[in-house]
Amino acid sequence: MHDQNIRVRFAPSPTGYLHVGSLRTALYNYLFAKKRGGTYILRIEDTDQKRYVAGSTESLIRSLDSMGVGADEGALLDDGNIGEKGAYGPYQQSKRLALYKEYAEKLVASRKAYRCFCTAERLEEVRKEQAAAKQAPKYDKHCANLSEEDVQALIDSGVGHVIRLNIDPERGEIIFQDLVRGEVKIHAKDVDDQVLMKSDGFPTYHLANVVDDHLMEISHVIRGEEWLPSTPKHVLLYEAFGWELPEFAHLPLLLNPDRSKLSKRQGEVAVEDYMKKGYLKEALLNFVALLGWNPGSGSTQEIFSLEELVQAFDLANVHKGGAVFDVQKLDWMNSEYIKKLSLDELLARMKEGGWLEKDLIKNAPENFRSETYLKKVLTVEQERLARLDQVGENNPFFFATELVYDTSLLNWKDNTKEATGEALQKAAEVLKNLSEEDWGEKAKLETVLMEAAGEKRGDFLWPLRVALTGAQKSPSPFDVAWVLGRETSLARIDNAIKRLS
Ligand code: GLU
Repeated sequence: MHDQNIRVRFAPSPTGYLHVGSLRTALYNYLFAKKRGGTYILRIEDTDQKRYVAGSTESLIRSLDSMGVGADEGALLDDGNIGEKGAYGPYQQSKRLALYKEYAEKLVASRKAYRCFCTAERLEEVRKEQAAAKQAPKYDKHCANLSEEDVQALIDSGVGHVIRLNIDPERGEIIFQDLVRGEVKIHAKDVDDQVLMKSDGFPTYHLANVVDDHLMEISHVIRGEEWLPSTPKHVLLYEAFGWELPEFAHLPLLLNPDRSKLSKRQGEVAVEDYMKKGYLKEALLNFVALLGWNPGSGSTQEIFSLEELVQAFDLANVHKGGAVFDVQKLDWMNSEYIKKLSLDELLARMKEGGWLEKDLIKNAPENFRSETYLKKVLTVEQERLARLDQVGENNPFFFATELVYDTSLLNWKDNTKEATGEALQKAAEVLKNLSEEDWGEKAKLETVLMEAAGEKRGDFLWPLRVALTGAQKSPSPFDVAWVLGRETSLARIDNAIKRLS
């Protein structure tokens, strides 16, 4: 099913990284388009020269692609360079500057906009006067009624100017429907005569955004709530041009746990940073999907594949209230995704994310870095991992050449070192007698060692576990012995016996 009337866009400004809130906006646009058989467009809003960061458009597209929410149309990467696909281009606003100028001039010609020659100093003065009179700051329309001759004379004298939207304060209420928030109303007298073109010839966000949404035939504008205050200005712009409005849907804010706006100060905000912290992309995507949306109709499902999200997504179930970015929940979700991976996949993810190169593993002896060995470590740790970076962190003895521990730790409760030594001797004998095949079976090691422990489990198993790990806490001695294998296990037990004597 293809519905050519449904066209949505994700329109980021490339400022250096992909914000998790932007990922959610991109995802909702993607889901909405896929569900309705529409087209999902990527438009790069890069006209703000001050905020431009070199290379950030490329990395933004790469991030979207790698998260699985690459666009159907618009800017894309072609052999590492920015290219594009589609009949509505260019899709980078910096390549559309002439268009914005043309449209701004149209509004000036129809008197829906005017040239404003006010200096920064004058504007500052007006602001101060308004503040003193306890009025909201607003341009005072000083230049709205200049005669054509005056305008020409000012241009000729070389005074710079901007172009402002000419809002009629008597226009009354501006009303529009938002698919998330319902009816939104604001009085025209409370809206500033928005600058559309700056004095340097660049358009403002408002002009470029509206012109492009119209020319690209966008049917639904789905974006973050921070753009809601701009929407009445956009509505007036559509009106000034005589264009039909798209549908609007403003997505709830993302909040820190203390309900302030999600900020870098309280945690990471860049998608890349979450990847670097050992989260899986599908877990992060699933997590952001639920920030502001739920499957509705009493469903408590929380784990969704991208395809399942496409099926379940509905703008009607996006809520108005801010959504708290709860890292603990993300950890839980990530652990659920880690549990579902096969050992081969898990190992591949470790490699992909560079986790095998972290110091603990990189500095380990060769035999602790083999695939077979790493898979055994992962078998034991998988259930308890919240993030990929945690592999080995709680169990460094899996990668250590030598164990550092206090010998007294070997004794179970008040046991003497002689009793501890005997227990370890016994364990060593039992383990020595096992065949290579037995060593390959975790369950076998458990049966044999439990049998040898008999009634006195603590007296036997505690020293064995400490001899193998050097740690207060660790997985069971069976699991650890199985991972370490015959040679290392026996050497560590031997070493412990020597320490005791
Ligand atoms: N360029 C704006 C941004 O950075 C786009 C907002 C919109 O979608 O209209 O988010």
